[in-house]
Parts: sequence; structure tokens; C-alpha cells
Amino acid sequence: AINVFWFRRDLRLDDNRGLYYALKDNAPVLLLFIFDKNILDDLPKDDPRVTFIHEQITVINQALQQKNTSLVVKYGTPDAVWNTLIKTHNIQKVYTNHDYEPYARKRDQSIADLLKNSNIDFITFKDQVLLERSEVTKENGEPYVVFTPYSKQWLKVISSKDYESLPSALLFENFVKQPFKPIINLDEIGFEHSKHSYPPSELSDTTLAHYKQERDYPARQGTSRMGIHLRFGTVSIRKIATAAKEKSSTFLNELIWREFYQMILWHFPRVVSENFQTKYNNLKWRNNEKEFEAWCKGQTGYPVVDAGLRQLNATGYMHNRVRMITASFLTKHLLIDWRWGEAYFAEKLLDYELASNNGGWQWAAGTGVDAAPYFRVFNPELQAQKFDPKQEYVKKWIPELTEGKYTKPIIDHKKARERAIKAYKMALE
Ligand code: FAD
Repeated sequence: AINVFWFRRDLRLDDNRGLYYALKDNAPVLLLFIFDKNILDDLPKDDPRVTFIHEQITVINQALQQKNTSLVVKYGTPDAVWNTLIKTHNIQKVYTNHDYEPYARKRDQSIADLLKNSNIDFITFKDQVLLERSEVTKENGEPYVVFTPYSKQWLKVISSKDYESLPSALLFENFVKQPFKPIINLDEIGFEHSKHSYPPSELSDTTLAHYKQERDYPARQGTSRMGIHLRFGTVSIRKIATAAKEKSSTFLNELIWREFYQMILWHFPRVVSENFQTKYNNLKWRNNEKEFEAWCKGQTGYPVVDAGLRQLNATGYMHNRVRMITASFLTKHLLIDWRWGEAYFAEKLLDYELASNNGGWQWAAGTGVDAAPYFRVFNPELQAQKFDPKQEYVKKWIPELTEGKYTKPIIDHKKARERAIKAYKMALE
């Protein structure tokens, strides 16, 4: 009999919790990755994240070749793949890591049931966060819905064990031995190879040392670009958090925001489609399609907003400060439903993470947990003066600006602000 380790959003061999415990068990381990049709069918055929995943599992497979084994890669729905696997292999246990997204929870429940019918155990581990689900709660056991008390409690609850890396590499003799097989090509699953470039997975000490001073300035290389790696597990959160703990409490605080939103998604999966604060359910969004298109293309006439969207469209990345400005502009200045902007980011961001994206959008719209109050409306020009004082960022993405003329703003700031406050107030009546 064998055990199976199933990779999902934890695409690394090193310090991978579920994999480590699978390798410590007493049966040889087969490694599995599924290109999930349920997810892939909804993505554009040149989606750069699929190329990224493909590259990462190729790296894993090359490492496995040295150990006389190979990654088993399947393409299909998880139900269908598992149905076949349990017929073709003598499987005793299946190991995997937790995933907190609603789709993943449903998928895992369905696979757990399927395996149970064949007397196969489904054993799961916390891997992608340091503290999950109800590990950080209020005294009465309820989840926090405000960040600051959550983060204080997080720092109280966390122990050195939570930061500890597990040496999976010492156990690499315990894989099922099998002939090496290259990974199925992207075109065989209907995708094109994307020419995007991806940030490296190293977190430098220099970034951490300057993070607090540099992180808010979109023209500088002041942030880590770890987003995509944390999303797909190509780095270990424990290693990143250990470096943060030692070198930058500001950076650690951002990682705690990530855990906060994962915890919120776990306890309140309804946020995926609904306002966290239901008191805004009557808000009358204007949802003007032409204005939405202008926003998507970076043609609102507000340079910092337009630069942000152009950076996103060209690179799959947008600086955090600019994410806040563009999201606030869409929801408040244009009164367009946050779900539209959220979906646009979800399609474009390389580091797209359901929990953080939803959290960020609902924060900007004022509908979320711990959200900005409705009467706080970012002034895009003041934001730009403060965080891009020399106009380096906007000029990089909007060459027309250098000539001194630029499109007229789609809406006057003062008018938009008044209109937003009125609409939000009316929703509360
Ligand atoms: P760094 O500043 O170097 O931070 C390091 C890591 O900490 C990030 O990679 C991320 O994992 C985490 N982090 C940092 N800030 C936040 C935050 N505010 N909330 C949650 N986690 C954070 N982050 C995503 O990972 N995926 C998203 O889809 C996403 N969508 C967002 C949408 C909006 C409207 C807003 C306002 C923010 C969003 N964020 C999202 C949070 C943040 O903007 C990005 O994590 C950050 O810009 C990624 O760049 P970085 O890796 O260089 O971050």
C-alpha cells in the first residue's frame, strides 16, 4: 500500500507540513498534482498564473527525478481524478494541506467522503498560515472582526513552534520509486505559455531593513513581491515570517493582515459575494459601464488611478498604496460596486488571493470588516502628492504626462465626494 500527498497551493518540497508528515508515515509516498478543470475552465487561455504553476511543478518534478521518482500530474475534475486513482492504486491514506476558500472546502469535503467510502483516511494540515481558523479568537470564542485587537491576540498566541520549519528534505528516500515522466504540456490542457516575468522568491534583508520607510512609495522597489509566492506556496510562510519577526515588525504586521483575512473568509464565507456589513446592502451603486471601462483601461484623467491600472494591465502587479487609491476611486468616486473591481483584480493580479483581495476591496468600499468609515474618501491628488511627490510613478506609466497635458478628469473630486457620502448615508437610512 502507498500514501498519497496531494499538492494544491503549497508548491514546494521544502518545509511543507502535509508532505513532511506524509513522509514520516510508514508507507511510501506518491506525489500528486491535479490541474483542476473546475478552476481552469473559467480562466483566459493565456493566464500567466497557469504558466507560473506549470513552471513550479516542473521544478518540483526535476528535483524528484534525482530521487528516482516523478510527480503524478492529472488533468480533470478532482472527483473524477480521485475516482480513478482509488481504483488503480492501493491507497491507504491521503495527506494534504488546509485550504480556506469556499470552493476548496467543498472540494475537500467531497473528496474526503469519496475516500472514506473506500476506507482511505484524508489527513490535512495547517500550512499556508501560522495561525488559522479559531486559533486566534476573542475570549468568548468568537472571531475578531477588527484587525488591531486580532493582531494583538495573534502576537500573544503565537509560539516558536508555529514558526518552526520542518525538514522534509531529510525524508526524501520515502517517495514511491517510479520512472520519471515530464509534466504534461500547457497546450494539452488548453493553455498558452505566458511571457510574463515573475518576481524571484527570495526575500532580501535589505527589503526588510527598509520596508517601513519605503513600502508606501509606488515608484520605489520598497516591497517584497512575495505575494505570488505566498499564494502558491512556493515559499514557506514560516520562513518568511521568521525573517520578518527578526528584522521588521512592520512587515510581520502585513503578514498578520493576510492571516486576518484568511480567518475572516473561513468564518464568514458569505463575504465572497456579500457586504460584510449588511447595513450597506441598500447602497445604490451607479454601475456606469463606460466609466468602469475607463477605470479598467486607466483613462479616468486622474494620473495616479490611471497609472495603477496601467501597471496592473501591463505587469499583473499593482502597488498596495495604489490598490487602495484605485479601489477607493472606483467604489466612492464612481460609485461602482466593489464586486466589479474585485473581479477585475482577480483576473489580472499575479498575486491574486481571494481572502486578501476581497478584504482589500471591502475595506476600500467601507463595507468590510474593520473598513474605512464611509465618509473617508481618498483624494487621489493629495495621495499622489504625498506618495509620489516627484511624479516618478505616474510618469513611468503615463508617458503623455511628461508633455504636460492630460485627459480631463472623468469627474470632479469635490462633487464625487459629496455624491458618495450622500449615497452611503442614504443606504443607512
Ligand atoms: P509586501 O508589502 O511586501 O507584503 C508582504 C506580504 O504580506 C504580501 O505579499 C501579502 O502576502 C501580505 N500582505 C501585505 N499587505 C497585505 C494586506 N493589506 N492584506 C493582506 N495581506 C497583505 N494581496 C494579495 O496577496 N492578493 C490580492 O489579491 C490582494 N488584493 C488587494 C486588493 C486591494 C483593493 C487592496 C487594497 C489590497 C490587496 N492586497 C492583496 C494586499 C496588498 O496590496 C498586497 O498583498 C501587496 O501589495 C502585495 O505586494 P508585495 O508582495 O510586494 O507586498
